[in-house]
Amino acid sequence: MTKRIYNFNPGPSTLPLSVLKIVQQELLDFKGTGMSIMEISHRSAEYDEVHNAAISLIRELMGLDDSFKVLFVGGGASTQFAYIPMNFLPEGRTAAYVDTGTWSSKAIKEAENLGSVHLAASSRASGYTYVPKPEDIDFPEDAAYLHLTSNNTIKGTQFHHFPDPGDVPLICDMSSDILSHQVDFSKFSMIYAGAQKNLGPSGVTVLIIRESMLEKCAAGLPTMIDYRTHASKNSLFNTPPSLTIYIVKLVLEWLKAQGGVPGIEAVNRQKKDLIYNLIDAYPDFFRGPVEKDSRSWMNIALRLPTEELEARFVAEAKAAGFVGLKGHRSVGGVRVSLYNAMTLEGAEKVADFMDTFRKANS
Ligand SMILES: *Cc1c(COP(=O)(O)O)cnc(C)c1O
Repeated sequence: MTKRIYNFNPGPSTLPLSVLKIVQQELLDFKGTGMSIMEISHRSAEYDEVHNAAISLIRELMGLDDSFKVLFVGGGASTQFAYIPMNFLPEGRTAAYVDTGTWSSKAIKEAENLGSVHLAASSRASGYTYVPKPEDIDFPEDAAYLHLTSNNTIKGTQFHHFPDPGDVPLICDMSSDILSHQVDFSKFSMIYAGAQKNLGPSGVTVLIIRESMLEKCAAGLPTMIDYRTHASKNSLFNTPPSLTIYIVKLVLEWLKAQGGVPGIEAVNRQKKDLIYNLIDAYPDFFRGPVEKDSRSWMNIALRLPTEELEARFVAEAKAAGFVGLKGHRSVGGVRVSLYNAMTLEGAEKVADFMDTFRKANS
């Protein structure tokens, strides 16, 4: 038997076991070709089917209407921090950003290098322990766009209510909570997500862009930076990360078999409740720094009474078969990442482990 452990890594993160088994099975001979998917032309009929199936599954699972294009690009979500202002922030205009942690700050920094930025709201002063309420997000009516980070992977906060952007295009980094719960996408003009948290392995970033936005792309951009290049060529202008897209397609098929987004949302709700219930029941031992209505379902940040206990918790958890529980180096403490592919059983087991550790050390 192959040894598999409970993997709480924040990203790249755990993948469904059934998906890994299909990859293993198809690796040497993909559908009778005698080659792996990695060794096939991205212009072949075999790859084309995979590529288009992945796009259709994203459309279907997210319930996207025809006004959206789904694109696959390389470079990670971080590359989009610059490409978004390059495409959508013309000279003389201002882009509005909400600052809710490390990833939003990085996006803001890139935009500031390229143009004018208006800070629409920030939770920096509190140490990013909450996300602003929609009514506290203040942006100019003529902003080029409003940018948000839906789930703050490092601080453990998440937007559960999005602002109504009016005529301002709403752009959202959904890298760490895409397809984890139901969202009304009609408010959004662009969504982007690196694959390595909820969609598959690293190597591809999914862009979901309204056709009406594509008309606004700046003129004269380098070909690969201009979103219209990828939209007009169905993300096959150049060689796509085909192995990653193939695994993304398998993850999406797995997600569909779980009952799609409503199905996984129900499981994700149970998973996060197991951990937050412990934080609420034993606040002297498990301290959740995040405000309740901003709690992330995907990344649960908590502190134990001392740093020494935190280090011991992480070490003992690892010895008991739970990895990836150490908080980000910028915040310390413990972080329990509960992406779609983490099973309910894994969440139950780690909650039991946490409670046993609490009893032994209180
Ligand atoms: C992980 C993460 C990123 C960075 O993604 P890369 O693909 O490594 O560039 C950006 N935004 C959020 C919200 C993330 O969780």
